Amino acid sequence: MKVVIIGGVAGGATAAARIRRLNENAEIIVFEKTGYVSFANCGLPYHVSDVIKDKNKLILHTPTSFLERFNIIAKVNHEVIDIDPINKYVTVKNLKNDDVFIEKYDKLILSPGAKPLIPPFFKYSDKTFTLKTLEDTFRIKDYIKYNNVKSAAVIGGGYIGVEMVENLKRLNLDVSLIELNSQVLTSLDEDMVSFVHSYMIAKGINLYLSVEVTNMEVNNNEVLTTLNNGITLNTDIVILTAGISPNTELAKKINLELGLKNSIIVDKKMQTSVEDIYAVGDAVEIKNYITGENTLISLAGPANKQGRIAADNICNVDSEYDGSIGTSILKLFDMSIASTGINEKICKKDNYKYEKIILSPLAHAGYYPDAKVLTLKLIYEKETLRILGSQIVGFEGVDKRIDVISTAIRGGIKADKLKELDLAYAPPYSLAKDPINLAGCIVDNIEKGIIKQVHYEHIINTDIIKTDIINTDNSVILLDTRTEAEYNYEKADGFINIPLDNLRNRISELDKSKKIYVMCQSGLRSYLACRILIQNGFDAYNFSGGYRLYSSIHKNRQMAMHQYNCGKDK
Ligand code: FAD
Repeated sequence: MKVVIIGGVAGGATAAARIRRLNENAEIIVFEKTGYVSFANCGLPYHVSDVIKDKNKLILHTPTSFLERFNIIAKVNHEVIDIDPINKYVTVKNLKNDDVFIEKYDKLILSPGAKPLIPPFFKYSDKTFTLKTLEDTFRIKDYIKYNNVKSAAVIGGGYIGVEMVENLKRLNLDVSLIELNSQVLTSLDEDMVSFVHSYMIAKGINLYLSVEVTNMEVNNNEVLTTLNNGITLNTDIVILTAGISPNTELAKKINLELGLKNSIIVDKKMQTSVEDIYAVGDAVEIKNYITGENTLISLAGPANKQGRIAADNICNVDSEYDGSIGTSILKLFDMSIASTGINEKICKKDNYKYEKIILSPLAHAGYYPDAKVLTLKLIYEKETLRILGSQIVGFEGVDKRIDVISTAIRGGIKADKLKELDLAYAPPYSLAKDPINLAGCIVDNIEKGIIKQVHYEHIINTDIIKTDIINTDNSVILLDTRTEAEYNYEKADGFINIPLDNLRNRISELDKSKKIYVMCQSGLRSYLACRILIQNGFDAYNFSGGYRLYSSIHKNRQMAMHQYNCGKDK
């Protein structure tokens, strides 16, 4: 059997190695159009800033090591320019000398990945970059090193853009991030991303949200990027990270069935609409494991798994891919930002009947040094308690919590059952009641009617420009149960203060005929207050996420309003 693979990185390299492990006699040839196979594209932003100093660390295999270890022929700088699916051969161009030749196959795997989206305003130049390959990375790194670069604009706030922002800032550049949407990282909801925005600004990033680039000019000294709010940014370099699209020109050429954004349609065995042609990775359409809908998920984990599955089926080992929940994580300086499953925006769009909780526990025991708060949002289906998704932002222990929730989703563990998970505990790592257990307890309390919740959208107008409290008719008592000192330092509009420890004594000050929305800093004291109030006959609701969340969203909206007004003034 002769297997040809187009694309020698995440999906392609994995498939090649798996085929060899299953079939010692197969002839395996990988064509890769860049100069490297099996490189760590996820590590590229960290080479720019020298966090990963040695470029060789990013190269997991070379054609020589592929041959020695796996007996796989990997041809770099070779682009497959055509496929003949009837006669089963590919046409290949050697990009070093322009030689063109054909290579026959019995089975073909396409793993061509995705390509950066290039908007019409983008000007190619020595000062403007995209980031996809090792060669792109060297170009950025060398330009910064040899041209006294002091400032950079990154266009696009997806995870690559956010990672680049950190790494450019590490080089002490003045860094601006420009994003068309009202937020970076669209896998997060407005509430959770507000923490990310504040942190970016605190780290000195110039954040431009809800703005469109209308023009780009490049001269001898700088790049001028004009935004639709009238501002023009003059920077030494621009890095474009404005999204990707499946790299499927070849698939289109041979009329493979295509789906979303021209991605390749495959079955569960990763076989395309044409027999003996398989496809994996960023180029293929897959099922969202939660919604069952077709989707694109461009992550290394799914590409690796799909590569293995295609290889299995080619080698007659039955294997199926049943979709992805898109679990992802990224680092922004000391902050970790993770998500899994679907977010609230998708729940709303798809009309899910869902409930959400937001909690801010410590990531490890408070009495052990350096405990940090993390913010965890859990979304679950109201009727079935099926976990739909989660987002976590924090400074430690984010990775393991998101992975537990992701595992719970795949294992069909219901939201309330998270309280029963036996999770490892010692003070430096966690709490006896881990944040995951705590989330399960909160769901359990809500579902058993022990506590009722109110969310920020019930308190703050959802229109991004308005931030007034919704309680103009005074029909609700807004109660802050933090200490007087905390309340006097900063408070939410319209809230009165009765500290939790005084509540039993001062309960007669409250009007029993009105609903009471109860807030504290993170949700624990307000929960205790709600329990006191409910047992005294009040209709009390715990404000999910506490003042931490309220103030984060509020500040975020003020920033958005400020940028909006600045734009209007121009
Ligand atoms: P790729 O790994 O991109 O490989 C496709 C290869 O095919 C390319 O090298 C391309 O040159 C080659 N090719 C295309 N057409 C041809 C042709 N006609 N002939 C020959 N060769 C061809 N994912 C995560 O999960 N976590 C992360 O932290 C993360 N960070 C990332 C950071 C960066 C900077 C980038 C660019 C991506 C990151 N990703 C991350 C995404 C992840 O790398 C991809 O999802 C994954 O590599 C997709 O695998 P693939 O095999 O489909 O495509």
